[in-house]
Amino acid sequence: MNDQAPISNAPVQHFIRSIIEADLASGKHAGIVTRFPPEPNGYLHIGHAKSICLNFGLAKDFDGACNLRFDDTNPEKESEEYALAIQEDVHWLGFEWNGSVRWASDYFQALYDYAETLIKKGLAYVDDLTPEEMREYRGTLTQAGRASPYRERMVEENLDLFRRMKAGEFADGTKTLRARIDMASPNINMRDPVIYRIKRAHHIRTGDTWLVYPMYDYTHCISDALENITHSLCTLEFEDHRPLYDWVLDQLPVPSHPRQIEFSRLELHYTVTSKRKLNQLVTQGLVSGWDDPRMPTIHGMRRRGYTPEGIREFARRIGISKSENVIDMAVLEGCIREDLESKAPRVMAVINPLKVVLTNFQDAASANPTTSRSAGFHPNHPEFGERDVPISREIWIEQDDFSATPPAGWQRLAPGGEVRLRYSYVIKCEEVIQDAAGNVTELRCSIDHDTLGKNPQGRKVKGVIHWLSATHAKPIEIRLYERLFTDPEPDGHKDRDFLTFLNPASLQIVQGWVEPAIENAAPESRYQFERLGYFCADRNDHKPGEKLVFNRTVGLKDAWTAGQGQKGGS
Ligand code: ATP
Ligand code: MG
Repeated sequence: MNDQAPISNAPVQHFIRSIIEADLASGKHAGIVTRFPPEPNGYLHIGHAKSICLNFGLAKDFDGACNLRFDDTNPEKESEEYALAIQEDVHWLGFEWNGSVRWASDYFQALYDYAETLIKKGLAYVDDLTPEEMREYRGTLTQAGRASPYRERMVEENLDLFRRMKAGEFADGTKTLRARIDMASPNINMRDPVIYRIKRAHHIRTGDTWLVYPMYDYTHCISDALENITHSLCTLEFEDHRPLYDWVLDQLPVPSHPRQIEFSRLELHYTVTSKRKLNQLVTQGLVSGWDDPRMPTIHGMRRRGYTPEGIREFARRIGISKSENVIDMAVLEGCIREDLESKAPRVMAVINPLKVVLTNFQDAASANPTTSRSAGFHPNHPEFGERDVPISREIWIEQDDFSATPPAGWQRLAPGGEVRLRYSYVIKCEEVIQDAAGNVTELRCSIDHDTLGKNPQGRKVKGVIHWLSATHAKPIEIRLYERLFTDPEPDGHKDRDFLTFLNPASLQIVQGWVEPAIENAAPESRYQFERLGYFCADRNDHKPGEKLVFNRTVGLKDAWTAGQGQKGGS
């Protein structure tokens, strides 16, 4: 049903894999250790999924290990809720980290001690410049920076001041510790970067123990080294930070010197992949939460019905490189659809019901006392089992499966025309009932009794439509989703805020009906509703046997390129 390659687990070659293969072949490393280092300041998104699949995937493929390490160096923005959600996401995607969860804060003491080492070597100094002054001294891309008047402080003074910073003698922001590198470096990151700041903030792990916190660049490389990471994989914006990564490790007696390798970030059309912006959507109430099924978060995609296998396949298909990685949503949806195609049991649901009375149904019942038929849940998977599909005198069909004035080639129902009810009889439309305004409110149809499981005699009926017994169908709330933004790159406009591109029609809630066979479906069960798309019982709101709530995961066909809605055709 799709011209893309089938889902496979075959690894795709890329430059990072080649580097690893060479390092193993040359004996530089006996095995590899990677890490996934999220900051617990929001929920993970599809971009993080790419990084997770890369880091954990490589560890798996090369029999190595991948650590999960929280980069918790910004106490104000971080929370336990985020940290727990991140762990849940990694597991859900199908990966297991090496040993226990690690935290950069586990290394706060070691990081502090290393900072004293730098001071003692004359490679770090306490600076009193204000942030504004520091910016001014830093210079620009075309202009060298200038040395701070405090740059030449003696080792003893620096050590004393740094210890007093730690002891709480100075107010937040009044002093920093800076690496003493090169104010004239063409790389601004090397112009004496700040490595410690004073901050009185409660930390989720260390509480109020620390009043000075290490900066990310300083923390990250040392954490990697302490964990004996072999390949530290990050996104391209850190390329200019690599000299600093290497400089710090070169100066210190750390146990190893990992190699930082950069790859390009994933960007997805019609959405945003920035925790800050996703956070804005949540805090401003523009979505129902981080797990809103329209969100590109792993929690959101999960709730919508995306599968871990589908997301992993997506990561495999988009590959790893240093060139721009802007991907159309259709690629992600294609992976999900392909995965669900063979996994999701199929049942019938009706979203826009049109009442049909089967006028000679009684005859059918007397001719054949069974009023339900057994039908398989999947045409290619008999092991999925079967269920009874009941029929009664009144049924529902989809409104748009009937046309009072059918176009040429119409194969669904029309006045005087015939159609097969999926798994059941061929029916003929005998009468169309309309209200005063001319809307079709009901059809009267007759059953051809001799068509159960066989073709009608002497004529061909091509159309097959889905339907439900009105007496047996269960009400269901259906949530239909469209893209969250109306612009392919909502955050790519200098003059317009990304929020102005929010799609007001991204969520439509409708009342539909479904076969009784799935009324007890557990939350997160996925089904294909025949001819309509793939749907997933909502993780939060669906209550088996009580209140059925399904999210449309994805349509049956790619409707993005065609620019239509996502509803599957006939
Ligand atoms: P955001 O910009 O969304 O806040 P971040 O990079 O600040 O993301 P981190 O928690 O620091 O988020 O990211 C953890 C890891 O995930 C990092 O190694 C980062 O490079 C990677 N990552 C983040 N966003 C993407 C993306 N869009 N594509 C690929 N990898 C990503
Ligand atoms: Mg970050």
